[in-house]
Amino acid sequence: MLDRITHSLMLLITTAAIALAIFTAIDATHATTVDETANGNPLLAKWEGPYGGFPPFDRVQIALFKPALESAMAEQLVEVDRIAKNTAAPDFENTIVALEHAGSTFNRINTIYGVWGSTMNGPEFQVVEREMAPRLAAFRDQISQNEALFKRIESVYNSPEKAKLDPEQQRLVWLYYTNFVRSGARLGTEAKARLSQINQELAGLFTKFSQNVLAEENDQFLALKSEEDLAGLPQSLRDAAAAAGVTKKQPGVGIIMNTRSAVDPFLTYSDRRDLREKVWRMFINRGDNDDEHDNNANITQILQLRAERAKLLGYKTHAHWRLENAMAKTPERAMELMEAVWKPAVARVHEEVRDMQALADKQGAKITIEPWDYRYYMEKVRKDKYDLDQNEVKPYLQLEKLREGIFWVAGELFNFNFTPVTNVPVAHPDIRVWEVTDKTTKRHIGLWYFDPYARVGKRSGAWMNAYRSQERINGEVTTIVSNNANFIKGKPGEPLLISWDDATTMFHEFGHALHGLNSNVTYPSLSGTAVARDYVEFPSQLMEHWLSTPEVLQRFALHYQTGQPIPQTLVDRIKRSATFNQGFATVEYLSAALVDMKLHLAGDRKIDPKAFERDTLAELGMPKEIVMRHRTPQFLHVFASDGYSAGYYSYLWSDVLTADAFGAFVEGKGPYDKAVAERLRKDIFSIGNTKDPAEAYKAFRGRDPKVDALMKKRGFSPS
Ligand SMILES: [Zn+2]
Repeated sequence: MLDRITHSLMLLITTAAIALAIFTAIDATHATTVDETANGNPLLAKWEGPYGGFPPFDRVQIALFKPALESAMAEQLVEVDRIAKNTAAPDFENTIVALEHAGSTFNRINTIYGVWGSTMNGPEFQVVEREMAPRLAAFRDQISQNEALFKRIESVYNSPEKAKLDPEQQRLVWLYYTNFVRSGARLGTEAKARLSQINQELAGLFTKFSQNVLAEENDQFLALKSEEDLAGLPQSLRDAAAAAGVTKKQPGVGIIMNTRSAVDPFLTYSDRRDLREKVWRMFINRGDNDDEHDNNANITQILQLRAERAKLLGYKTHAHWRLENAMAKTPERAMELMEAVWKPAVARVHEEVRDMQALADKQGAKITIEPWDYRYYMEKVRKDKYDLDQNEVKPYLQLEKLREGIFWVAGELFNFNFTPVTNVPVAHPDIRVWEVTDKTTKRHIGLWYFDPYARVGKRSGAWMNAYRSQERINGEVTTIVSNNANFIKGKPGEPLLISWDDATTMFHEFGHALHGLNSNVTYPSLSGTAVARDYVEFPSQLMEHWLSTPEVLQRFALHYQTGQPIPQTLVDRIKRSATFNQGFATVEYLSAALVDMKLHLAGDRKIDPKAFERDTLAELGMPKEIVMRHRTPQFLHVFASDGYSAGYYSYLWSDVLTADAFGAFVEGKGPYDKAVAERLRKDIFSIGNTKDPAEAYKAFRGRDPKVDALMKKRGFSPS
């Protein structure tokens, strides 16, 4: 259910701690044609072409990345130095706006580098990653530790002139100031040096951590040897397993890869309990196999370095440092919410297990429900209790039709129109691009890239990415966003059918894309999805609600053979089962979120991740039939970067807003109420980080969020 929770932190490409402004004006250091740019490296060139230009994905060679990154870093350091050494008295324009302009080349190359790292990774690229990760960290520190620069920012922040700036400008000044302070700008020379050393060590460990997980996902699989090994699998899964077997050159009838998109369906449908256990063990032990890809030692080191850094910066723990500027503000508030939801969710799991056990007993299975049985019996209970079979729903969920449905919703809510374009280069032939325009005025709004299929070298899960942020400090700069997923390709020529959960994930990721596309701000650091981590999941989770609207289902949930819309009786059964299995989904997610937070509240003692995970779960009363959605040794959200560290709670925090916000439509004229949609655009989707999120929410809803709607949505009664 919570596949969308695997989506990565890629969406927050703009960290304003360093001036990652995006800048389209022709820079004096660049000559006019592509081949005359620094070193003749095409990755450094200004993005050419229509739509304000686009990334030159067709010109990528891995050997170009290192020199391009080096050249772009050097260029940004020169730009920043010029700002720091300006002899004119510091003011908003010559300091803050100047920083927004700096680093345009670096932003461009770093975007392409990021896309390669997450979707086109391979051994050659990994060598570059290992070398560049610490150097990029050192580069960021060089900017945030520039004393003369910080003095200027501080001076603008403390100046009485600040009061004369408009609210967006004041927020930008605040953001620069706090980000610099939070990055150690006020520390002494020795502490700064140690901080930078920590950040470089962490960058190296993050790279190791994610390369280890990727290796175990790419290299490990379960070989299916005969027809008996396929027992229970629907045709689409048999086809996918066979296709994967061909790719991996494995004899037999197919293979199950060690990725979520292959493992979860196998656990749901395979009648072979022995194979389910094997696949389950393979998947939950990624990064935990006591071999060259084991992540436990990396975790211990990461946690110690984070604890040391937090202390150095004057915070009690890493969690306190991370949450200071989040909506929750303190780990205690985040914990309070998680604990309120935990107990009713666990109680629900016990009910779910009772139902599954009863069914297994009735069928004479002679088993006790184990974690590798959960998804399998959950499906059987769904059928038994709600007369609902996921395989009955799937023929109505065609990937491409649902994409059209998503476009239609964006048209209704935000007046967007999508047109496919073919004149834009892509990183892989599977990727397609659409131009987004305003339906009425035909104004160009942005580009949307769609990369739906799994492939070797692409990280698992689903995520959104911003290639270019909307802004207007250099004229009207429009945004470029992408949605990425890991659907397993079906048979050529046949429509790809996806599950209800996958369809929900598509709407979720598209919600992030709409957050970017609606952006209407001046300064790039405040643009689109560059908001607090525990707020950014709000627009995306909100969009999930539109999948189940009758308007979408009747028009776009069409049977792939007959073209008939999904029958109302089936829709009713889906609706009746809306809170089914919420115990599993919530506990699976929340156990991971709680372990994440507790790991980062534990201070600087040396942590053995295995023992910590085991003991924490025991203390929490984790049901033995469920395992954390991401076990510690494979928890990319938390250990592949600082991204969601002490921040995995964000999905729950945002879901409080989501559930409560959808109420505004329900209380109005329904999900397509134009007036509510306009408020949503004006107060939430268009403002980026120009306002405090709590205030923005209040402006939209007319009051603070209430947690009741979340409990109701998940079918829990408050404890
Ligand atoms: Zn998301």
